[in-house]
Amino acid sequence: MGAVDGFLNYKRELPKSRDPKTRVEDYQEIYEPFSEDKKNEQAARCMDCGIPFCHSGCPLGNQIPDFNDAVYNKDWESAYSILNSTNNFPEFTGRICPAPCEGSCVLGINKDPVAIELIEKSIIEKAFELGLVKPEPPKHRTGKSVAVVGSGPAGLAAASQLNKAGHNVTVFERADKVGGLLRYGIPDFKLEKWTIDRRLEVLEAEGVVFKTNANVGGNISVDELKSNFDAILLCGGSTVPRDLPIPGRDLDGIYFAMDFLSQQNKRVSGNSDVMFNHKGEPLGLDLFATDKNVVVIGGGDTGSDCVGTSNRHKAKSITQIELLSKPSQSRTKTNPWPEWPMTLKTSSSHEEGCERDWAVLTKEFVGKNGKLTGLKIVDIKWGENGMEEIRGTDRIIPCDLALLAAGFVHPQKEGMIEQLELELDGRGNVVTNNYATNQKAVFSAGDMRRGQSLVVWAISEGREAAKAVDEFLMGSSTLPSKSKSFYELV
Ligand SMILES: Cc1cc2nc3c(=O)[nH]c(=O)nc-3n(C[C@H](O)[C@H](O)[C@H](O)COP(=O)(O)OP(=O)(O)OC[C@H]3O[C@@H](n4cnc5c(N)ncnc54)[C@H](O)[C@@H]3O)c2cc1C
Ligand code: SF4
Repeated sequence: MGAVDGFLNYKRELPKSRDPKTRVEDYQEIYEPFSEDKKNEQAARCMDCGIPFCHSGCPLGNQIPDFNDAVYNKDWESAYSILNSTNNFPEFTGRICPAPCEGSCVLGINKDPVAIELIEKSIIEKAFELGLVKPEPPKHRTGKSVAVVGSGPAGLAAASQLNKAGHNVTVFERADKVGGLLRYGIPDFKLEKWTIDRRLEVLEAEGVVFKTNANVGGNISVDELKSNFDAILLCGGSTVPRDLPIPGRDLDGIYFAMDFLSQQNKRVSGNSDVMFNHKGEPLGLDLFATDKNVVVIGGGDTGSDCVGTSNRHKAKSITQIELLSKPSQSRTKTNPWPEWPMTLKTSSSHEEGCERDWAVLTKEFVGKNGKLTGLKIVDIKWGENGMEEIRGTDRIIPCDLALLAAGFVHPQKEGMIEQLELELDGRGNVVTNNYATNQKAVFSAGDMRRGQSLVVWAISEGREAAKAVDEFLMGSSTLPSKSKSFYELV
């Protein structure tokens, strides 16, 4: 254990974020540097609890008190080795994980929890700086080959693990660049894309092969994969967005959030190629919020990313509306520690400016000459029988750009899933048994299997699926398996 009384002596402190007025002028990450002494103090707050609930709060089973102790002792090599044993990509989770571990930190019962996510980011960035993150190709190759379809966090984690086990791994990605939603969903101000490129260099040097513009079930047939590989692991994500089929939906000015966000990420990367929406239809690189009244429909992470991007485009006004009621500021009796706190979250994008409204139903898109001009909305209240409109609250709010950020329903069925004749569950996700689908030698992991989720869950699924594939190919596996997280036990 680090400092016995660290939790008494130090308050939780995070790096300062850049002034919202200036940071909306660029797409760079928003945090200022944080000194090594401060990181050391934050690690000292860990109490090294007898039962570390944070372990099971983390979907990867990260050994948090152990790496906190190493950071406190400025032993970065040990800290990196502990973190690397459970997490292939701490540079992503250390930046964008909502940190369910912190929700289950024992110190969080009556003080602010340990700043675990910050410590994780500090360890991996220091490890890169010290040259500790080196390519480690496997000593022996098994002669078996695996095709991983999809290069989001699930596919990348699986590829990394399967390569460690000695298999020849090829990752097929239909986009022009590797990374999945890390690359073309999550904005640069949350995750700068050099972090992905830096990791890809390591994976390539270890022997993982990447093929981009390779659409399996499109320009690459599933039969080609079946005949050339010993196993196939599908990590295609959950890509079909939830629509809002209400009157006026065909007006000009209504877009899915991902169409808006992925265009901007591409612009930031300096790429002016045509983008395609989830149906494969071309989108021009001309979708801007500049001088528009923007309404973001959906109160989650994706919606918040649309707010941050609209602020950078200099929208005239930005309103984010949500169907559910406003969450409370603190935990309720039905949401006790160590569960993930379902409390009101204010993101850095919200801090940059926007109106937020909850318990609001969108009834109609209103327009003139085929163009969107407003949204007809009404307040609702939630009761035992569901939602009820509140009489007399109908109103029209101005809107020239509506961004639908109401989540994703399931993976795309046309193409790969249909051609492989995969069994799907009632929600349209791929059915698996220990990551194996109904087709021999075909496995699935990540959002495609579990439904839309988080980066940390995608990495966890990729690691677990890699172990299942390794067992299938070799009869047994020495790849690590994680302990069950709190969320899988309850
Ligand atoms: C806007 C947005 C913001 C988010 N913010 C956060 C956040 O802050 N924190 C967080 O933890 N999570 C966040 N998430 C969720 C997180 O990004 C996902 O849960 C995670 O990326 C899922 O990983 P995955 O590997 O399963 O799939 P994806 O990341 O979706 O990757 C799937 C990949 O498969 C490719 N593919 C699909 N079909 C084929 C095919 N037939 N052939 C070849 N390639 C194919 C796709 O092109 C894609 O690159 C966010 C999601 C969105 C949309
Ligand atoms: S990956 Fe997420 S949940 Fe796990 S320790 Fe890091 S911040 Fe916490």
